[in-house]
Amino acid sequence: MSQDAITSLLKETRRFEPPAEFSRRARVGAQATYEALYRESIEQPDAFWRRETSDLVFRTPWTTISDWSLPHAKWFLGATLNVTESCLDRHLTTATKNKAAIIWEGEHGATRTLTYAQLHRETLLLADALKRLGIEKGDRVAIYMGMVPEVAVAMLACARLGAVHTVVFGGFAADALRDRIHDSQAKLVITQDGAYRRGQVVPLKATVDKALAQPEAKSATRVVVYQHLGKERCEVQMTEGRDVFWHDLLAGAAPACEPTVVDAEHPLFILYTSGSTGKPKGVLHTTAGYLVGAHVTTKYVFDLRDDDVYWCTADVGWVTGHSYIVYGPLSNGATCLMYEGAPNFPDWGRFWRLIEKHGVTILYTAPTAIRAFMRQGDEWPAKSDLSSLRLLGSVGEPINPEAWIWYHRTIGGGRCPIVDTWWQTETGSIMMTTLPGASFSKPGSTGLPMFGVVPEVVTKDGKPVAAGEGGLLVLKQAWPSMLRTVWGDDDRFRKQYFSDVEGCYFTGDGARRDEDGYFWVVGRIDDVLNVAGHRIGTAEIESALVSHPSVAEAAAVGRPDDLKGQALVVFVSLRPGVKAGPELQAKLAEHVAKEIGKFARPDAIRFADALPKTRSGKIMRRLLKDVAAGRELTGDTSTLEDLTVMAKLRQQEEE
Ligand code: ATP
Ligand code: MG
Repeated sequence: MSQDAITSLLKETRRFEPPAEFSRRARVGAQATYEALYRESIEQPDAFWRRETSDLVFRTPWTTISDWSLPHAKWFLGATLNVTESCLDRHLTTATKNKAAIIWEGEHGATRTLTYAQLHRETLLLADALKRLGIEKGDRVAIYMGMVPEVAVAMLACARLGAVHTVVFGGFAADALRDRIHDSQAKLVITQDGAYRRGQVVPLKATVDKALAQPEAKSATRVVVYQHLGKERCEVQMTEGRDVFWHDLLAGAAPACEPTVVDAEHPLFILYTSGSTGKPKGVLHTTAGYLVGAHVTTKYVFDLRDDDVYWCTADVGWVTGHSYIVYGPLSNGATCLMYEGAPNFPDWGRFWRLIEKHGVTILYTAPTAIRAFMRQGDEWPAKSDLSSLRLLGSVGEPINPEAWIWYHRTIGGGRCPIVDTWWQTETGSIMMTTLPGASFSKPGSTGLPMFGVVPEVVTKDGKPVAAGEGGLLVLKQAWPSMLRTVWGDDDRFRKQYFSDVEGCYFTGDGARRDEDGYFWVVGRIDDVLNVAGHRIGTAEIESALVSHPSVAEAAAVGRPDDLKGQALVVFVSLRPGVKAGPELQAKLAEHVAKEIGKFARPDAIRFADALPKTRSGKIMRRLLKDVAAGRELTGDTSTLEDLTVMAKLRQQEEE
């Protein structure tokens, strides 16, 4: 990492004011109101958080707001609670009781609705059953399921008992599951027979069998199997004495499991990061701080109203699913849509039909999905009525302005504000965005800090850089939903987040802050390119490429170069029907030179059918760096979504 500033060249200057009609009804309807609340959250945190959490259930209130003995933070000291009382029990005494908590749609179109009362009952039944299996406070439970309501039930049932869940994304193979069971020393695995994905059955239970056959996973001695597909569609092998069906287990349980009341800092869950930059880290989140972060951000960022139908398209296996499908929406009494399958099954119109059918008002998705839809053309969304939508969100990667504009116009009909939310598994909840009724947005900028968050762009010595200049993105103060450690590896925690810049949390991202105080995340700091002496973020080159009508997606990486130090190599996937070839290469090189500057003209442009991504949908530039340099793959590939993508890229190399 160098101390030089990152040259910042995004010329994006468009501004989108919140529509007056939206602001009029919004929770925070003016910039000044946001600013006053933000100031209070920093200057009087105790008063701020007490008011903002008055609808959550604490058995005993906190006595001390926070304690940050670097690097370890504690929040809401003295408080006791059980998160399920805030997410479930509290709604049973209000009209929310019979409101839909989860509207589920399976890949084949079946639907189910669980009200808050039903979700509460299911959770208590499972919690009681798990207790009978010997699960106690502090025990780790691995959850390896697809997108069915029972995955939320499983998480909440663990929380009810004070057990620590670790959800493993259902797309992971047996070895990745084994590693996470081993690392967390989970005692029990909750799974399901199988799930649908692109019309195929994904045999989840069979994968659990493979993982548990390995000695590293021996901590897990029991398996609970939810039958989602049934015997005809997915036969499972049950191991006597180890495996039990969910329904058999619940038959002997009572819907009357008292919550285990825990301290504010009791662990709630462990979740492994996406692995974009290296081996995944087991991020530990604790009870009160995490709940507060998820709750307050969901309420304000999505401007939740009682009649919203809110859809976060993430998988529950990622932090976005934890905070914005389960804990945040449920603690707010929201109605969430949960969809089991792939966005393009049976065709690219599926998402838009789901929105029309269920009257979705808020859509929260990722740039990778937006770019994929954009690539397929406007005719797909045009087939559905999307007029129920009132707010759009983006998370996971920098959103290229081109994709932002498409999302705004084609999906949002020009009337829906977009919240571009920057955060991480480690931060537990949204750290930066624009509140949709209060602040204008700028395509590609993640906006302003959320309550209690103090981001800054600094040099390696921790000195703030001037407006417009690039540097390291740090968070200067502890916030409630901050990770507490890396599970079982506190050294890694210290080294990863607290050794680069003294006295604050280092995010690993590069950013700049503009004259309006808006933040622009320009990419991972390890991926920052040094082109002919100019330091430039990957997002800027990639956004320039994506703004060309032929390009669907792009990834920029550096290749060691004797002369220049680093040569710029870009990998590009094209829109359908566009012909690859030297002519287009020349055009694209010219386009980047025009958009950014001559110095940024790529040294090589390579066409790819698809780019390597993590299973959470992020471009894995570290693998492309190896390809560009003609090296063997180095580092962890366990979270790579599709190995064949890499094979194809290498094959092309040899041709
Ligand atoms: P690993 O830490 O294992 O390398 P990861 O960083 O991809 O994986 P996550 O916690 O899922 O794991 O992702 C957080 C990162 O995603 C952020 O650090 C940032 O780089 C990127 N990110 C998330 N949201 C945004 C956003 N709105 N704009 C720009 N970047 C974003
Ligand atoms: Mg990360």
